[in-house]
Formats: sequence, C-alpha cells, structure tokens
Amino acid sequence: VVAEAGVVLDDLEIALNREGMTVPLDLGAKGKCQIGGNVSTNAGGLRLLRHGSLHGSVLGVEVVLASGRVLNLLKTLRKDNTGYDLKQLFIGAEGTLGVVTKVALLAPRKPRRVDVTFAAAPSFSAAVETLVAAKTELSESLQAFEFLDRASLELVCAQMKGARDPLPGSEAPFYVVMETSGSVERAAEERARLDRFLADAKTRGRVVDGVVGVRVRVRGGIAAR
Ligand SMILES: Cc1cc2nc3c(=O)[nH]c(=O)nc-3n(C[C@H](O)[C@H](O)[C@H](O)COP(=O)(O)OP(=O)(O)OC[C@H]3O[C@@H](n4cnc5c(N)ncnc54)[C@H](O)[C@@H]3O)c2cc1C
Repeated sequence: VVAEAGVVLDDLEIALNREGMTVPLDLGAKGKCQIGGNVSTNAGGLRLLRHGSLHGSVLGVEVVLASGRVLNLLKTLRKDNTGYDLKQLFIGAEGTLGVVTKVALLAPRKPRRVDVTFAAAPSFSAAVETLVAAKTELSESLQAFEFLDRASLELVCAQMKGARDPLPGSEAPFYVVMETSGSVERAAEERARLDRFLADAKTRGRVVDGVVGVRVRVRGGIAAR
C-alpha cells in the first residue's frame, strides 16, 4: 500500500482491513500516530515478532530534503536488489535527513481469526521462558508477545473504563499477552492447542495462571471474555 505520511496508523489499518489486509505494525499510539512518524522512529510495536521491523516492511519512501529537492524512492517492488538501498537511511532518522512525505508499505494478509492468551508469570525470567516456549511450540501462529508488570496492570484497571483484570486473585509480579492467528475452520483445535500450551507452562512453573480468549482493546484496556 502507498500512503501519504500524514495518514493515521489506525485509519490505514481500517482501510486495509476492508481489503482483507493489515498493517505490519500495531502500537498503543495507533489512534494518533502517523505513518511518517512511525517510519521516522522505526517504530517496532506489537507485530514485530511476526512481521519484523520497518526496515523490512517499508518498500519505498518519498522524501523532501532540506534543499527542497524531492527524492523519489517510492518503489513498490518487494524484491529489489539493484544498487544502494537509500530508503533505509530515512527509516529511524527522526526527520534529521529530510521529511518523509509518502511511504510504500508491504501489507500482509489479515489473519482470519486471532486468539489472545493472558498469563501470570511468577518472575521475569519465567516470562522470558514463556516467550521462548511460545516461539518454539506456536511458531507459525504466534503474532505478538508482550509483557507487563503488576503495577501496569493495576494502573490500566484503575484508569481505563471497562478494563478488568483477566486473572483476578493471581497477584503475580509479571503478566504476558500472546496473540496467535488461526483459521475459522480449525478454531476448536487451535484453542485446544493453546490450552495445552498453558497447561504445560503451568506444570513447568513458567506461569501460575492463564486464560485463553481474552479481549484486548488497545484504547479500552483488558477484559476477560
Ligand atoms: C526513536 C523512537 C523509537 C520508537 N519506537 C517505538 C516502538 O518501537 N514502539 C512503539 O510503540 N512506539 C515507539 N515510539 C513511540 C513513537 O513516538 C510513536 O509511537 C510513533 O511511532 C511516532 O509517530 P508520530 O506520528 O506520533 O510521530 P511524532 O511523535 O510526531 O514524531 C516522532 C519523530 O519522528 C519525526 N517525524 C514525524 N513525522 C515525520 C515525517 N513525516 N518525516 C520525517 N520525520 C518525521 C519527528 O520529528 C520526531 O523526531 C518510538 C519513538 C521514538 C522517538
């Protein structure tokens, strides 16, 4: 997709969703941040695990240099091995080399179904071990993996309307949120696989509690389904 730099990330997501596609980037600021700002900060966000960094997803940019010269690097070819890859200089440059005015972005297919799993970890190292296990055992379906501490969860629940602790009473120091993609036809099978993953993680002491099927809204907080 080719977007002007001022397009708000969430608007781009909504427009692409209508075509069955998605933006390879999702972050808390999506309702306000703009695609030009995302590219200029090389924002990583929640989907980095699945889609990699913007250095791989950005296919081209149009940039206006300080001299006023318009640099057209707006290629949309996925495999382009020719010459220097100048666009990479502008990804993460924070405007120091020029103003990004247009971005060509690789848009992956939108997953037809997504499961969100929320689990309580007894320690930071247990949260990291859960990530390693998820990458190994759920590899092809793992979309996103984030962690938060107890204080952050309490803050979300206290400040965001409608947000509830998905694991009331767990009182763990850390929590992990996993997003896995799947097919509509195999929903039950995939849920059972996640249940098995959680049960195994509990047995091995990586998590103390967990729930599959959590509804997470970036601006609306977290709620158990
Ligand atoms: C270095 C850095 C890395 C970040 N990484 C992440 C991350 O991985 N995950 C995450 O959730 N959030 C990240 N953020 C937060 C980030 O600020 C916002 O979430 C968002 O990506 C920025 O978009 P924005 O439109 O709000 O840009 P702004 O906050 O308005 O601008 C951010 C920077 O980019 C420059 N800039 C903005 N638009 C353009 C443009 N069109 N052309 C040239 N320069 C421009 C600005 O001058 C400024 O230096 C990061 C912030 C910074 C500074």
